[in-house]
Amino acid sequence: MKRALITGITGQDGSYLAEFLLEKGYEVHGIVRRVAIEDPEHRLWRILPIKERLHLHAASLESFPSIYRVLQAVRPDECYHLAAQSFVAYSFEDEFSTLNANINGTHHMLAAVRDCAPQCRFYFAASSEMFGKVEQTPQTESTPFHPRSAYGISKVAGFDLTRNYREAYGLFACSGILYNHESPRRGYEFVTRKITSHAARIKLGLAKELRLGNLEAKRDWGHAREYVKAMWMMLQQDRPDDYVIATGEQHTVREFAEIAFAHLGLDYRDYVTVDPQFLRPADVETLLGDASKARRALGWSYQLSFKDLVEEMVEADLQWLSGAPRTRV
Ligand code: GDP
Repeated sequence: MKRALITGITGQDGSYLAEFLLEKGYEVHGIVRRVAIEDPEHRLWRILPIKERLHLHAASLESFPSIYRVLQAVRPDECYHLAAQSFVAYSFEDEFSTLNANINGTHHMLAAVRDCAPQCRFYFAASSEMFGKVEQTPQTESTPFHPRSAYGISKVAGFDLTRNYREAYGLFACSGILYNHESPRRGYEFVTRKITSHAARIKLGLAKELRLGNLEAKRDWGHAREYVKAMWMMLQQDRPDDYVIATGEQHTVREFAEIAFAHLGLDYRDYVTVDPQFLRPADVETLLGDASKARRALGWSYQLSFKDLVEEMVEADLQWLSGAPRTRV
């Protein structure tokens, strides 16, 4: 039985990936903060339905000794490093802790894997935010990086660290350059979930308006459940490499809001207002990925429509607000 270790297992991607790997017959281990283990209802809700089948280890990515101990105990065949401070807007409020946590966290994982489990295949969650102020459209694996936030900068550093561990120490280390990927498990601070949860609240009479920032920002939004499969596929190849994972389709925040409200029979223009507090000092205006390499080399493809993604999220929020248990999606 293959053994996998996931950092960020309590998050959107970690929870989908854990389900996917269990399904494939893996023994799945996860690194979680001690506070999360002590507060399962709130902090582990995404993995509650599968919690008994997982092996959770309390450790902090900021502490090398604690990471080293977990790697030594688990000695995984595959390691998926997904944990990070991943909210771009917050990375402007606290650049220092975003850079520290994200860069050191990745460095600690790579060093511990090299020392304790050198045969382990390593996946790093890189990001389309590395392209930032894009230098070409659509972006591919060879498009130059131009990050626009501490988050983006931390991901470029993680990407470089991962590549260097591959080249310097022969580690089977890959980076997935994933474009925005959403689902009913997305955090409420991200614009997609903020829109779907507010639209549902407005529909039920629980809220009156939705305040957003830049409505013209364009993103290439896919479904997280499909994207975690690509992570696994990268680690099953003969050679380690880096891949763009994207839908190849772009929409504005405005369009996302329009479809979400329309699904509930509402016109977003009656409820959405622009509030300057949600504008960023430097925003990423447009992202569009070209995933041809992943299609060719991994056989990964994306089938869902944008409308289906938006509507699935709206429906889930509507159900939860009407009292259905959250653990169902
Ligand atoms: P990101 O692409 O990782 O930064 O994901 P987000 O979902 O946080 O933001 C996507 C885009 O939506 C960015 O260009 C934001 O500036 C824009 N946006 C507009 N209004 C909002 C808002 O109220 N909250 C967030 N999070 N983003 C917003």
